[in-house]
Amino acid sequence: MRFPDAFLQEIKFRNDIEEVVSRYVPLKAAGSNLVACCPFHSEKTPSFTVSTSKKFFHCFGCDVGGDVITFVMMIENLDYPSAVVKLAEWAKIPVPEDDGEYKEKAIKQKRIFEINRESALYFYNNLIDPDNAESQTALEYIRNRGIKNPTVKHFGLGYASNSWDRLTKYLSDKGYSKEEQKAAFLCSVTKKGEYVDIFRGRIMFPIIDVSGNVIGFGGRIIVDNGDERKYLNSSDTPAFKKSRNLYALNFAKNAVGTNKKFDYFILCEGNIDVISLHQAGFTNAVASLGTAVTGDHARLMSKYTKRVVLAYDTDEAGKRAMQRAAGLLGEVGIEIKVLSLGDAKDPDEFIQKYGKEKLENQLVKPKGYIDNKLDAIYEKYDINNAEDKIKAINESCQELALINSEVEREVYGYKLAEKYKVSDQTILKEIKKLASMRFKKEKTEMLNNNMRKTEGFGDRINPDRVKYPESVKKEEIILGILMTHPEFYTDVKNILDENLFISEFNRKIYNLYKNAIETGADGNSSFDTVKITRDLTPEETGRISKMIIFDNIPEKDIKNELANYIGALEKQNKVYEKKNIDYKEIAALTDEQWAESLKRRINMREDKLKEKLKKGEN
Ligand SMILES: [Zn+2]
Repeated sequence: MRFPDAFLQEIKFRNDIEEVVSRYVPLKAAGSNLVACCPFHSEKTPSFTVSTSKKFFHCFGCDVGGDVITFVMMIENLDYPSAVVKLAEWAKIPVPEDDGEYKEKAIKQKRIFEINRESALYFYNNLIDPDNAESQTALEYIRNRGIKNPTVKHFGLGYASNSWDRLTKYLSDKGYSKEEQKAAFLCSVTKKGEYVDIFRGRIMFPIIDVSGNVIGFGGRIIVDNGDERKYLNSSDTPAFKKSRNLYALNFAKNAVGTNKKFDYFILCEGNIDVISLHQAGFTNAVASLGTAVTGDHARLMSKYTKRVVLAYDTDEAGKRAMQRAAGLLGEVGIEIKVLSLGDAKDPDEFIQKYGKEKLENQLVKPKGYIDNKLDAIYEKYDINNAEDKIKAINESCQELALINSEVEREVYGYKLAEKYKVSDQTILKEIKKLASMRFKKEKTEMLNNNMRKTEGFGDRINPDRVKYPESVKKEEIILGILMTHPEFYTDVKNILDENLFISEFNRKIYNLYKNAIETGADGNSSFDTVKITRDLTPEETGRISKMIIFDNIPEKDIKNELANYIGALEKQNKVYEKKNIDYKEIAALTDEQWAESLKRRINMREDKLKEKLKKGEN
């Protein structure tokens, strides 16, 4: 069974799109719509648009869009049924019983949580088993890193044997099918069709979500078994999304936030860093799971606090990763500080070397991210040398031009002028120039990207656009009007044949639309876009939201405009058809003759259309 239409409509009605979206991004009024910087792509000028009246959002930068259900799907990284259930919970609407779609998915996820928990226990017992010679190496490694027994237990560390099938056999004995084990990313299938353990000869770090479910694993190799990956993390599974989870967030979330012990997260690169920080009392440490920080991570952290201290490795890779993280965190309004690690290569080594009191001192006054950058530039050059001094100032201005807030740019500009003993007006002018160059460049890039997408080069959603760009534009306008004003469908249904839609994608949408209205309980008055979008991917829904948000025809002209566009579409299609089919005949005519004949035929057709339309009115 699928969710009933009435239930989906109720969900949309009770969850106001403006209210839901503004829980994640701050919205600003712009004309009749609301805008924000898009949470789904990185941008400095807002192209993410929400229409409260149409109950739709669309981003003109990255082309995603949809209704409140699509929004929750995308921002919470959920599939359609899970997003619907979440929205139902928010609106306190009971989910209809016996919904196969949702149940099946929930059961699958629950099984994966169970397999993971079973495996975590297996790995743990393996590690602490004094009779297991193999795991002694693992324990030794853990002790050398200064991790004590209670911490091992607290984090549920374990050991995966250096064997091809020990875990698979164990789980099979417990009644889990090979398919389920594979879905949980615990075993894989070889070319010969054999199921083998994925994690072999590794110290295992269970990844636990904020609800306490074991959602996946990270593994560090400690046996030389030919596997060259030092760290291996679970891939995304139905129960785990790397980009949306942080290591140790299950503990850190209790330590961070208003009225909690800390008002900031410490963001590290590695699991071991996090563990040694927790052991030293810094229970606010988290790490991204073997991936670079994503926008999702940034939004996840900003739910708990608006302050993050970065504690990345001090090598070049760490610096680059830190720069990227700082950019993403800044975009969601998080204040970023940098932990100064001195000569230690990572936070773990810092604690080993200097102890936790010293770390505590460093954390009392961590350097601001920008100050840290400016200091690094200052130290790189010999300021007494004029040429070097100019280089340092230019580099610093480039850096400050990357800041989005004008006030912030100015504050640092004054600081910079002071530091290098130069006129502040010159510095401010330079930063302003660089910043506006950057904004201009980003805007052109966005426009170019958009053009490429909509002009067909990258249009995966509607590939026919390349062949029939003009017709596709008209089709989209017609669909946009019809979806926004379903009450006019009866007026045009007789003249709007599905075959008039030259592009396959738009024809599919029109048929879904037609079907939704004609099978609906009370025709077009009960039409809602959920009846279409539920059968589409978020990318396809993005196309629909664009058609709907673009529609801006005044109420009184709608019927007339619809007829005009339908006529124009037919005319345009004829032009394309002629180009392809009767090329010889067309070539025999002069341009003037051709244009005349075309006009005549089109006028005839338009008259016919108008007549049909008139008849429909009576
Ligand atoms: Zn976007």
